[in-house]
Amino acid sequence: MSPDGRLAPAVRRALEPKGASCYRHCQEPVSTLRPRSALPGTWWVLACPSGVVSVTLYAESGERDPTARVAETLRGWSSPPALVLRKDLRRATRHGPELGREVERSGTPARGPVPVSAVYWRRYPFKGRDGKERRLLVCARRAHPHPVFFTGVPGEGSAACPVCARRSSA
Ligand SMILES: [Zn+2]
Ligand SMILES: [Zn+2]
Repeated sequence: MSPDGRLAPAVRRALEPKGASCYRHCQEPVSTLRPRSALPGTWWVLACPSGVVSVTLYAESGERDPTARVAETLRGWSSPPALVLRKDLRRATRHGPELGREVERSGTPARGPVPVSAVYWRRYPFKGRDGKERRLLVCARRAHPHPVFFTGVPGEGSAACPVCARRSSA
C-alpha cells in the first residue's frame, strides 16, 4: 500500500466496474471515463452513449475519509456546483479479501487488511418543473480539462453541455 493514497494497479483493476449496462435509462453498455484530479486516488465515471451517468466512483488507499475532498472535486466539475449533494455520496471501506483473488495473488497484502476508501456518487433521476424526468449527464469532450456534470432530459436540447454551449456562443 502506498502511503500517499494511490491505488496499487491490482487494486485498481479489482475495483474497476465491469460489464454494466446503463442504470435505469437504456440497454446500452456504459463506458468508463477515468478523469484525473488533484486527489491521489482513481476516478471512474460510468456513462451510456447518451451521456447519462450510472455512477461515479472514487477510491484511494488508506482509511482516511475522502468524502469531503470528493465532494469538493465533483463540485468543481459540476454546473451548477450545487448538483453535488452530500446525501448522494456514499462511502464504503473495503479490505483485501473483498477485492478478490487478483489482489491477493499480486502479493500486495500478504497479511492483514489493505483498506481502500471508496466514495460512490449517484444522483437519481428527478422530475423538473415541466414534469419531465431529468438526469445527471456528463460531457466528456477532450476539449474540457475535466468532465462536466449537468442535468437535462436525454435526447432533448436541454441535454447540451453548458460549458460547450458557452464556448460555441462566445
Ligand atoms: Zn442510458
Ligand atoms: Zn462539454
